[in-house]
Amino acid sequence: MKKIVVIGHANPDTDSIVAPIALSKLLKARGLPAQSYKKGNLNKESQWALKNANQENEIKEISEAEINPQEVGTFLVDFNEASQCPIDPQKIKLFGLIDHHKLGSTWKTEEPILFRIEPVGSTSTLVAKMYKENGIEISKEIAKLLLCGIISDTLNLNSPTTTDEDKVWANILSEIANEDIQKLANNLFEAKSDLSSFSPKEIAKLDYKVFEMGEKKVGIGVLETVKPENANKIEEKLKEEITKIKSEDGLDYVFWGIVDIIKNETEMLIIGEEERALIMKSFSDLVIKGDNLVLRKVVSRKKQIVPSIEKGIKLT
Ligand code: MG
Ligand code: MG
Ligand code: MG
Repeated sequence: MKKIVVIGHANPDTDSIVAPIALSKLLKARGLPAQSYKKGNLNKESQWALKNANQENEIKEISEAEINPQEVGTFLVDFNEASQCPIDPQKIKLFGLIDHHKLGSTWKTEEPILFRIEPVGSTSTLVAKMYKENGIEISKEIAKLLLCGIISDTLNLNSPTTTDEDKVWANILSEIANEDIQKLANNLFEAKSDLSSFSPKEIAKLDYKVFEMGEKKVGIGVLETVKPENANKIEEKLKEEITKIKSEDGLDYVFWGIVDIIKNETEMLIIGEEERALIMKSFSDLVIKGDNLVLRKVVSRKKQIVPSIEKGIKLT
């Protein structure tokens, strides 16, 4: 193996950027030729996290041409569904996979590989554990990165996805990084809420994933924010983009939620009657707001939105 490509999911979030960087450094420390990659724009939160840890040059943009399966192994991070792979899943030789989402795809390999999914709040938590298991010291820079990954994915340890392990590691990492968790969270969420340099089309895809639910193909985008008004201002344009995505990706349903981190609720932008009916069927605690539906106490796509919609689809 000449090279190991370590890469997170398409439309990467902060966990999907920082965990590959930290994991590739761990693999390198074990003598493996690893390099971290991404595909697509960084959101402002990820940009802030990389700058804060002085690691902006540690992750490269991937090109399909680099993935020759004879010479290159691929280590997937923070996802396992083929529909979320940033490169053609048929063309890669899977070298490893670590994740914290439900298992959604079947992978086949020629040799045994490292394949690890744990129900923790972030892949960054998993990578921190792996440093410890391998007896490799976590540097200050890596601690800063991984702490940002945990805070981002768990919404500062408040999301229902948060586990005790995430809390323990957040504290250990904040000591090593010499960073205050609350202060870091404020900076990250502030950065994440700044949409000023993105077009509505880019915003629609910043945190967007495709799921296979039985026979149905479902696109779900979210925008985690402390300033929902920034998204509400351009709501009509966002709905146009989401409608385009639905036909481009050949989806049966598309959902797009403004996740209000402070109010602990998600406003679903509703683009059609099929979507409205499915949301009404899938969630019980909801409030009508104009054309949209507000899901109370819902902030997690992974633990709340996806499972509820999957159940709703089974009922249709
Ligand atoms: Mg992610
Ligand atoms: Mg994650
Ligand atoms: Mg997330």
